[in-house]
Amino acid sequence: MPTVKEILDSMDYGPAPESSAEVMGWLGARGAFGHYIDGGFTTPADTFATENPATGATLAQISQGSAEDVARAVDAARKAQPKWAKLSGHQRAKYLYALARSLQKRARFLAVLETLDNGKPIRESRDVDIPLAIRHFYHHAGWAEMLADEFPGLAPHGVCGQIIPWNFPLLMLAWKIAPALAAGNTVVLKPAEQTPLTALAFAEICAEIGLPKGVVNIVTGDGRTGAALTAAPVDKIAFTGSTEIGREIRRATAGSGKALTLELGGKSPFVVFADADLDAAVEGVVDAIWFNQGQVCCAGSRILVAEAVANTFTERLQTRLSKLRVGDPLDKCTDMGPIVSATQRQRVAALVSAGEAAGATLVQCEGQLPAAGHFFAPGLLIGADPANPASTEEIFGPVATLTTFRTPEEAVQLANNTRYGLAASIWSENITLALDIASQVKAGVIWMNGTNLFDAGAGFGGMRESGFGREGGREGMLAYLRGPSPKPRPEAQASFDAAPHPGAPGKGDPAIDRTPKLYIGGKQARPDSGQSYRVTAKGTEIGLAPLGSRKDIRNAVEAAHKASGWGKTTGHNRAQVLYYLAENLSARQREFESRLREMGANPAEAEATIARAFYYAAWADKFDGAVKSTTGNMVTLAINEPFGVMGVVCPDDAPLLGFASLVLPAIAMGNRVVAVPSASMPLAATDLYQVFDTSDLPGGVVNIVTGPKDELAKTLAQHDDVAAVWYCGEAEGRTMAEAESAGNLKATWTMSNRDWTDAQGRDFLTRATQVKTIWVPYGA
Ligand code: ADP
Repeated sequence: MPTVKEILDSMDYGPAPESSAEVMGWLGARGAFGHYIDGGFTTPADTFATENPATGATLAQISQGSAEDVARAVDAARKAQPKWAKLSGHQRAKYLYALARSLQKRARFLAVLETLDNGKPIRESRDVDIPLAIRHFYHHAGWAEMLADEFPGLAPHGVCGQIIPWNFPLLMLAWKIAPALAAGNTVVLKPAEQTPLTALAFAEICAEIGLPKGVVNIVTGDGRTGAALTAAPVDKIAFTGSTEIGREIRRATAGSGKALTLELGGKSPFVVFADADLDAAVEGVVDAIWFNQGQVCCAGSRILVAEAVANTFTERLQTRLSKLRVGDPLDKCTDMGPIVSATQRQRVAALVSAGEAAGATLVQCEGQLPAAGHFFAPGLLIGADPANPASTEEIFGPVATLTTFRTPEEAVQLANNTRYGLAASIWSENITLALDIASQVKAGVIWMNGTNLFDAGAGFGGMRESGFGREGGREGMLAYLRGPSPKPRPEAQASFDAAPHPGAPGKGDPAIDRTPKLYIGGKQARPDSGQSYRVTAKGTEIGLAPLGSRKDIRNAVEAAHKASGWGKTTGHNRAQVLYYLAENLSARQREFESRLREMGANPAEAEATIARAFYYAAWADKFDGAVKSTTGNMVTLAINEPFGVMGVVCPDDAPLLGFASLVLPAIAMGNRVVAVPSASMPLAATDLYQVFDTSDLPGGVVNIVTGPKDELAKTLAQHDDVAAVWYCGEAEGRTMAEAESAGNLKATWTMSNRDWTDAQGRDFLTRATQVKTIWVPYGA
């Protein structure tokens, strides 16, 4: 024991260990865990060890869930679901509230258990993970209570399969289970194989509060168990984990009709401008990348610093780095614990070495690391250029890259120079600059002068290859609810004659241009094939349509990409264009009616399409975001942003109204669209070119490529510059559109043909946008 005088002389930290006795007692009493299915634990079988990453010691034996275990859990959840959904919102709220209360009572126990199993410092689990998990259950008890008022007409999906990673074990569980239960779903959750313990403790709490059997089921195991859950007959899969596995799950669930939300990897920029509070930004880095061993999917792992302050900032960062306390995570003075597993530690080490080999300089904390456990010294890779693997790959460890930029434009360009789009942290005392950068950075969550802020009231989730769907707040609830099924519609009457028909223009209705051209970038364009195809109705040829190809789709995407000004213009301006479009359609209503009649479609579509254009003109400046109620001294904005370029593959019948019902909401929200109209009745869409031209619709906002539907759809689904795809058609095409979208993890919406007369509303706008959450702190 040092004397008081010695302590005062050295001003060193004394040991401040949190006791693990209670948790060790709990673990000792159990020894091995089975799965939690239908309200009880199964007998442990096929077990593997879960270890304490700080020491390598085994904590408990965990069962490896088989496909049969998963099937039994899904059965139990299926049986329990109708009754659970039938409870009043208030009754479900009481259960969620009871869960919150019980978690709160055991907060200390859970924090220690989390730290033992995951290795994160007790300060993090005690002050961040567990309180947030509790807050999630309280918040969602509220949503259950308000469900009927706030989400009228929506229903739960049914049984949800939920797969979570090891970095925030209990918090991720809360993010997944609380909204699912509030909405009336039942769940089968698979925790990560490295960190199953808090989920199992949660299962005990479910039993203890008397949650009806089968409402929550926990099946433990590794990726094989996860894959079995993905394949099981569930109604929704919610996955958080790596982009690689997310992509696999996207492919595996394609065409299954299962709803899907993915929260995947990130390579988040941490942008420090010259006028930033540098000391605060240094602490931001500590918080973002070191306190959590960098094991946070949204960690600001790419530090971009303005050249003017780069030296000062790097020096201060290095000073702080040298003072980090790495060691026993149960010690309350520890800043950083071990990496979660030996495998993960090796991965981090390999990527850091690759970063060094590619030219970056590694600076690491020099303190002694504990001999046992999977510790890795925190550090910085300075001067990693954009192509360095350390700049492009997710390290998921306590090492950030540090690069400089000169201008705000360069900062944005570097920030967006990634496949991911999970989060970003922007440091500047100039709010105008910071908000301007926030609007340009492609990420689902943006923290200004802060980092890693979460709250149950705000949405969290990514863009691009960081996935789709949001957790938290109203958006998170919507992910666990579905709308009523639309009324189906009879099959198309006209037939698609795909035989190429070289050259000649169709016979003309003088009022409507029938020259078979595509519409790309606001101009009529010959198809690359130089060919057209016959359009027939009731066996008679009624005209020709251009035979578009992959090349035409690529040209159209490029034109749409260039029309990015559309997303930045005001809602008012977009409304003006849509009103004008409605007016111009109105002036030509009779021509469209006769064209529809000629094709064997319903002429009433013309009038309904005009009404739809007015409707979305009305919405263009009214689909507002929100200010979320989160933590103190924080304005948390939720902004509805367009995806960018969308591919819209239209239904085969309802050639005008089906097209308009999908394209109009997409462009009203600021997206640019490459549309593939009905293959069998494309002429109603190609007749629109002149209406677009006379309506001041900027070139490239709507592009139309006619031709073989699924070939064109496939090119759209595979295109990396297309951010979302909507596909209406047969099962085979829907499966293809979803599977092919896995490449860059596009958001997809696939549907079978429907009655289009009532196909409008908020749901279309919600699906045409992605929420960007911006956290703006205040305080003098
Ligand atoms: P991480 O790199 O964060 O461990 P993973 O994506 O490998 O991310 O793991 C996240 C979760 O997904 C874990 O619970 C893991 O067991 C599970 N998992 C791994 N492989 C698959 C798979 N093929 N299908 C479903 N789940 C999987």
